[in-house]
Order: sequence, then C-alpha cells, then structure tokens
Amino acid sequence: MKNTKIIATIWPATNNEEKVIELYNAGINVIRFNFSHANYEEAGRNIELIKRLNKEGKTNLSLLLDTKGPEIRTGDLVEKNTYEAGEVFKVYVDPSKELTEKALFCDYPYLIEDIEVGGSINIDSGLMNVEVLEKLEDCVLVKALNAAVIGNRRHINLPGVRLKLPGITEKDVWDIEFAIKNDFAFIAASFIRSAANVQEIRDLFAKHNCDTIKIISKIENEEGIENIDEVIGASDGVMVARGDLGIEVPIQKLAIYQKEIVEKCNKKGKIVITATHLLETMIDNPFPTRAESSDVFNAVLQKCDSLMLSGETAIGKFPIEAVKMMTSLINEAETVVDYDFADFEYKNSNEKVIEKKELLKGAIMAADRLNAKAMIIMTRSGRLAKLASNFRPNVPVFAFAPTEQVVRNINLNYGIYPAVLSTWEDYNCTKNLDDAIELLLANGSVTKEDKIVVINNIRRGNQEISSTEIINLKEY
Ligand code: PEP
Repeated sequence: MKNTKIIATIWPATNNEEKVIELYNAGINVIRFNFSHANYEEAGRNIELIKRLNKEGKTNLSLLLDTKGPEIRTGDLVEKNTYEAGEVFKVYVDPSKELTEKALFCDYPYLIEDIEVGGSINIDSGLMNVEVLEKLEDCVLVKALNAAVIGNRRHINLPGVRLKLPGITEKDVWDIEFAIKNDFAFIAASFIRSAANVQEIRDLFAKHNCDTIKIISKIENEEGIENIDEVIGASDGVMVARGDLGIEVPIQKLAIYQKEIVEKCNKKGKIVITATHLLETMIDNPFPTRAESSDVFNAVLQKCDSLMLSGETAIGKFPIEAVKMMTSLINEAETVVDYDFADFEYKNSNEKVIEKKELLKGAIMAADRLNAKAMIIMTRSGRLAKLASNFRPNVPVFAFAPTEQVVRNINLNYGIYPAVLSTWEDYNCTKNLDDAIELLLANGSVTKEDKIVVINNIRRGNQEISSTEIINLKEY
C-alpha cells in the first residue's frame, strides 16, 4: 500500500465511469477539476458520477477545485502572430487599441508602471520570452528573445513583478461558490501571494457558513515564495505549482524552492503537494523518461503528502498507465525513505493538542517497533488522523469517521486511509472499534494473524479520553 497520495486531473481523457474507476484502482485519491478550463455543466455531471461511485463503494475519492486565479492574458487576434528572434513590437494595455504590426494586448492594466526596462515578459507559458526595451505612454516596446507563434488569449507571466491583483477574481468567487454547493473537500487557490489572499477565500467561506473546505495555496511566483511562511500559516496546505513557478522564477531555483517549501510544510504539519510535469512525457508515451522517474522519487523522498498529475490524466493518451506508473514509483521510493518524527515541530501548539500529539507519537512508535500491520484511528473530526499523518507513520493508518465530509477532508494526508463508519454511535467507542475491525478483516486489510495499534476514545463519566490500545487480532 502506498502512503503518498495522488491527485489526478480529469477531463476530457477520463471523464466517464469506466475511466474514473480505473484511475481509482490504479491509485488516485483525489480528483482535480481545473477551473481554468472546466465548465459548470460538465463538472456537475462528473461530480454526480464521483459521488455516486463513492456511495456505491466503488471509489473513495475527494473533490478538489483548482481556481483560475488572477491570471494575465493577451487579447484576441485576427490571426496568429509569427515572431522571429530579435523582432521588436508593442504591448498595449488599452483594449481599444488596434493591434497592428504584431502588437499584443496585455490585460494587466498596471503593466507600464510595474514593469522595468530590461525586465522580461513571458508569453504563452514559456513559449516566448520578450525583453522590455522602453516604456512608452500607452505601451511597452519589447524585443522577442526567441521565435514563436502566438495565438489568442495566451497566458502572460511577469517574473519579478509585484502584481496589483486581488487574491480571487469574480470568476473565482463563482467557482468557489460552486465548490461550496457541491461538497468539494479542497480548493487549490491559484497565484496566492500573501496571507491576505487566503483570507479573501476564508471570508467568502464565512459568508456562506462553510467551514469544511480546506484551502491549498498554490505557490506560483516570487511574491508567493517571499511570503511563504505567512502563506503556509494561513493555509491548510500548499501546492508547489511548478508550471507557473518554473516560469516566474529562474529555472535553476525551482528545485531549491520545491525542497524548501516541502520542508517548511512538513515542519508545520501542513499538507504539501508537488505538481506539474512529474510524468509529462506520458501524455504521449506509455513510459516515462529516466528524469521523470527520478523526479517522482525525489518528491517522495522530500516527504510530500501528495503528487499531482495534470495533462497526463486530463488530456493524455495513457492516463491509467500514468497513474499505475506513479503508484509503482511511489511504492518503490517509500521503501527507502527515512520517515523521521523530527521533521514535525509538534510541540509548537497548545497543551491539549500537545497531549494528543504525544499520544499519537507514542502509538506510531509502538506500531513501528512492534511490526504492527496497521493503525486504526477513530476520529470524529478528522483532527487525530491529520496529526498522525504529520508524524509520517511507517504503517498504513485506517481512519474511521462518522461522516463523509470528514473522510473527504483527510484523503490528501500522507498515510491516511479514511472510511465512513456508517454504524458510528457517539459515546459507544468500544462498539465503534469492533465494527471498524470487522470491516478491515472483511475486506482483507488485516488478518487474524496481525497486530494493530489503535487510537480510540474511552468513556469516563461524561468525558471521552483518547487512548492507545495494542491489539493482537488473534486474541480479539
Ligand atoms: C502549475 O502552474 O503548476 C499548476 C498546477 O497550475 P495550472 O495547472 O492551473 O497552471
């Protein structure tokens, strides 16, 4: 069983029942809807499909909505522009300007004041880089640094520029409201640059009385890197969104930033995801490159909670093979990783939480030393399972919760296998555990020969107290 989770982007290569079940059986845990492209009608159909499959027990998948975010784009052209290296042209910010002589429009209104002469503008996700030669009254004069063909509404990156853009756009607000209505477990928020950006999303949640969705902040530019500590502090998790980040920062720095962000999140006990290009060539080929296999290994070695597939499963020719490959690479990598408690700064919290962490730490250590087959955590809110994941346990942790919502929220955390216990009765802890063990024996996750370590509550008067039990199932 692998402990590092996989997020798969669906659409259009994989948006049917057969493919979703195949993706799940191949090892995915979370389905990502990329709202840079998705529409409500088709997303709605896929959401209904996944909810039905979850209900029927065919899958156990959480939903993640990736916002478009405050992107910058070029405008519409009559036909594509072809540029040669060294060609000089104008970039306007006024949409009413006629785009003659291969001029482009940029929808960032502060371009002229914010960009520096000598700075660069990146067009179409890395396809063309231009150097700013001069700032004029109504445009900037730029020089193409490479040849390229540029079409309509292409993505623009402005490396090094502190963007005067909101955390979420009007479209993001509609999309997040859609996620709230449709029981999504996670929002991956694009282009988060500060804690204030995250707060804009929390305020929107509060307006809709939503306290269930977890916020994953996507780090995609230099400002996000500069403010990484406050962003991690304000978020439930962070995604190293290497697609845009690799354009916005010097490429030589990308791997260093990835390592630093993952380490910081591990220390703070926040979910961390590495995304983009992990198995990129599998969009067209049934086998990854050697470098890609090493990239997946490295992300596991760094102790990410989760790895994300984008084009590989959304538009690729080999979506199922890509997930199977990622699962096998993760499985192999996990055998050599030293999951060390010291990565988690677990003492930095209030006394009650520290008590729970000490209890979990002891239980995880016992499971490791006693060669237990698994741990069971009975968790009403999901908090104990999340904390256990932060310690990176060496054995799988089966987390049983009373509600689907709790289960969906802990599905991205390393090493946690969550399930709803439909027979859950508050204050009937012994019966709940009996039912959970019966389920695991029935589905073959554990056998009568196994030893397991359990975190459950015991009842004392009106109080419930978490405790650890070591159980030899033979004697149970
Ligand atoms: C990324 O840039 O790596 C990313 C995950 O975001 P998107 O796919 O939305 O560009």
